[in-house]
Amino acid sequence: TQLLDIAAIRDQFPVFRETLPNGSPVTFLDSGASAQKPQCVIDAEREVLETHYANAYRGVYQFGAQIDEELEASREAVRRLINADDSSEIIFTSGTTMSLNMIAFGWGGRHLKAGDEILLNHMEHHANIVPWQQVAERTGAVVRYLPLTADGRLDLQRLDEFITPKTKILSVTGMSNVLGTINPIPELSKRIHDVGGVFVVDAAQSVPHQVVDVIADQIDFLAFSGHKLYGPTGIGIMYGRSDLLEQTDPLLFGGHMIDRVYEDHSSWAEAPAKFEAGTLPIVQAIALKTAVEYVEGIGFEAMHGHEVSLTQSAHQRLMEFPGVTIYGPSIEHKGAILSFTMEGAHPEDLAQLLDRKGVFVRHGHHCTMPLHDLLGVSSTVRVSFGLYNNQDDIDRLVDALQFARHRLRLG
Ligand code: PMP
Repeated sequence: TQLLDIAAIRDQFPVFRETLPNGSPVTFLDSGASAQKPQCVIDAEREVLETHYANAYRGVYQFGAQIDEELEASREAVRRLINADDSSEIIFTSGTTMSLNMIAFGWGGRHLKAGDEILLNHMEHHANIVPWQQVAERTGAVVRYLPLTADGRLDLQRLDEFITPKTKILSVTGMSNVLGTINPIPELSKRIHDVGGVFVVDAAQSVPHQVVDVIADQIDFLAFSGHKLYGPTGIGIMYGRSDLLEQTDPLLFGGHMIDRVYEDHSSWAEAPAKFEAGTLPIVQAIALKTAVEYVEGIGFEAMHGHEVSLTQSAHQRLMEFPGVTIYGPSIEHKGAILSFTMEGAHPEDLAQLLDRKGVFVRHGHHCTMPLHDLLGVSSTVRVSFGLYNNQDDIDRLVDALQFARHRLRLG
């Protein structure tokens, strides 16, 4: 694979030009939560605001027309990114959470009946659990969990037992935001479609790291967030195949999503408008295109190669510390995320001590309480990589962990 010039890439992210008040550089190891923004994305947002901002889909005047055009160009960029058939299948939302709620309530709320089954698993983020629990409660459907293997992968041996004609929905993350596990999307897609169910993918963690192809993988609904893809906050995507979108109810009602409003009833516009009630996050939606083009310009293959080598190196260095447990599968099944605990050190104390050295990591349950219950820990420390991380970041992580161990009198 082609090697990335990481120094040049870091230069494109203004945040890395700054040092912290104590003089240490920023060691940002929390891109799984939200990624830093390249200058081009920051500029794209500013340019809209400075030169031609207006509301969308309302005005015929020049600013309005330009905004509409740019929004449609962004929709088209996202269509190309995930290889959807038509840009009307790309719905702007506020993020993955909103998208998953729209899928759960909009499709599930309309089609699920008592006794139907929704298949999840313990590695899902709360955003891909709680909406389904709520829909199940309202429809009488049942939420089931496909077991995980001891090393934190989906137990594919047990698919027959859990995917049956009762299974109306299988919703799964492309990549675990804790274990880093990359799930076998094509196989899962085939298995759920064999029983006539609908396949939903939470791509919040996969879209920033790997090629996602809704046609090749026959994904029915997909959700992701702009902010993890080096893009703006407040913007996300819900993809739905067009025939399914027709059978999906909107979750929000109001302006723009209607066809005709009468005194006592209304009819809906076609997708995507049907799912985009009210004023969109216009600036963020337009700048999402810049983020998409940015990652496409770097290339997923090169990005993946770089992130794999970082993850491998960090994995090896972490394992050299006594008392470290890294959760999840072996490195070949993992994306750019490592979660661990260290004997004798509370994750919050570790995160706080690392912060003193300018090393930013996340601690806690990472919105995956059922997974942490299964792992038998209430909290872990998570290191996650973006394309701008480098070997120096790992060296500083290791140095900071040594400092933390010393402070905690662990060695
Ligand atoms: N799913 C996964 C796998 C995630 O990692 C996240 C973000 N931590 C979400 C869903 C929720 O994304 P957002 O907060 O942008 O809605």
